[in-house]
Amino acid sequence: MFTTATVTETKKFPSGSTVFSLIQPTGKIHLGNYLGAVSNWKDISQADEDPSTRYIFGTADLHALTSVKDQQVLKNARHEAIASLLATGISPERCIIYHQSSVPEHAQLSWVLTCLTSMGALNRMTQWKSKSKVDEMSSISDLETMGKTKAGVFTYPILQSADVLIYKSTHVPVGEDQAQHLELTRTIAQAFNSTYKTDFFPIPKSVLTPTKKILSLKNPSKKMSKSDADQNSCIYITETPDSIAKKIRKAATDSIQGKVYFDPENRPGVSNLINIVSGLSRKSIDETVKDLDWVKDHKQLKDHVTEMIVEEFKPKRHIFDDLMSDVAYLEQVTNKGREKAKAIAGPNMKEIERLIGLD
Ligand code: AMP
Repeated sequence: MFTTATVTETKKFPSGSTVFSLIQPTGKIHLGNYLGAVSNWKDISQADEDPSTRYIFGTADLHALTSVKDQQVLKNARHEAIASLLATGISPERCIIYHQSSVPEHAQLSWVLTCLTSMGALNRMTQWKSKSKVDEMSSISDLETMGKTKAGVFTYPILQSADVLIYKSTHVPVGEDQAQHLELTRTIAQAFNSTYKTDFFPIPKSVLTPTKKILSLKNPSKKMSKSDADQNSCIYITETPDSIAKKIRKAATDSIQGKVYFDPENRPGVSNLINIVSGLSRKSIDETVKDLDWVKDHKQLKDHVTEMIVEEFKPKRHIFDDLMSDVAYLEQVTNKGREKAKAIAGPNMKEIERLIGLD
C-alpha cells in the first residue's frame, strides 16, 4: 500500500498543482463511482480558489476499448460519462473536461513509457487478472493465461501512467482499487527521470477519496460494480426514486436486531449502508454512527438511506437527462476541453521528444 509520502489527505493543494483523473465511459456512473470518485472531484475543485491549480478530468475512452466493442455503445457512453460529470456539478469553467482519445499525446507518451516498463512490473498488477478472468496467482508467462489476456488489458497501467504524466500531474484522486496502478506510475516516472537524467516528471501523489469502497447491495463481500449480473446490487445516478427505494429495500443486512453500528467484518451489509450515509453527508463514520443513534431497526436505516440517495440524485438525474438531449452542448464542452488539454500536452510532448532524442 501507500507510504505517507505518496498519499495526500489534504484538500488544499500547493500553488501550481495539477490535479488529474479520468473515468471509463462504460455506462452511467453508479453510487460507487459517485462517492468513490466524481463527487470528490467536484468537492476539491469547487473548494479551491487558487487559480494556479489546474483540474483536468475526462473520459478514459482509449481504456474503454479494452471492453467496449460496439461503436454506437461507445459513442453514447462517452456522452453519458461527460453528462454525468457535469450533472455531478464539475464546472467546465474551473476544470478541463475532455475525452482522452482527443489528445493523441497520451498514446504517444504511452509508447515511450512502454519501452521503460518491465513485463515483471506489469505481471505483478492484479487488475488485468480480474479483467481477463484468470486466477490472481496467474502469471503472464503461463501459455493459457497469455491466450486469455489481450495485450491492451496487460499494458493498461502504462497508458494510465501516460495519462497522468503527459500533464506533469502532481495529484491524482483515485479510489482504493487504483492504488496499485498509481504506485506503478510513480515507478515509471522515476525510471524516465533517471534514464534521461532529468527531473521532468513530478512524482504524482494519490489523493484517496474520503469514502472507502462502496460494496454491492446484494453481496457486500464485493465492490459495487456496473458489470454485476445482479443489477439490484447497484444504484445509478439516473435511477428513479421508486427504483432506488426498491433496491435499498432488497439490500442485504443481517439478523441482528436493534441499534445499528459499524462493523464491516460481522455486519458488512449494515456497515455498507452506514458508509453510504457517511459519504452522502460528508461526515466521518464515527459522526455518522452518532447521528444515526435514533435508528432502531434495519427498516428505519433503509428508509433513511433511500431518502438521502433520492435527495442527492434527484436534481442530478434531471440535469443528466437535459444534457443528454443536448449533445451539441456536450461536444462544445469537450472540444473546449480538448483545446486546453492539448495546449498543455503538446509542449510537454515536444520537451519529452527533446529529452529522449527524437527532436
Ligand atoms: P471505473 O468506472 O471502474 O473506471 O471507476 C471510476 C472511478 O470510480 C475509479 O476512481 C474507481 O476507483 C471508482 N470506483 C469504482 N467503483 C467503486 C466502488 N464500488 N466504490 C468506490 N469507488 C469506486
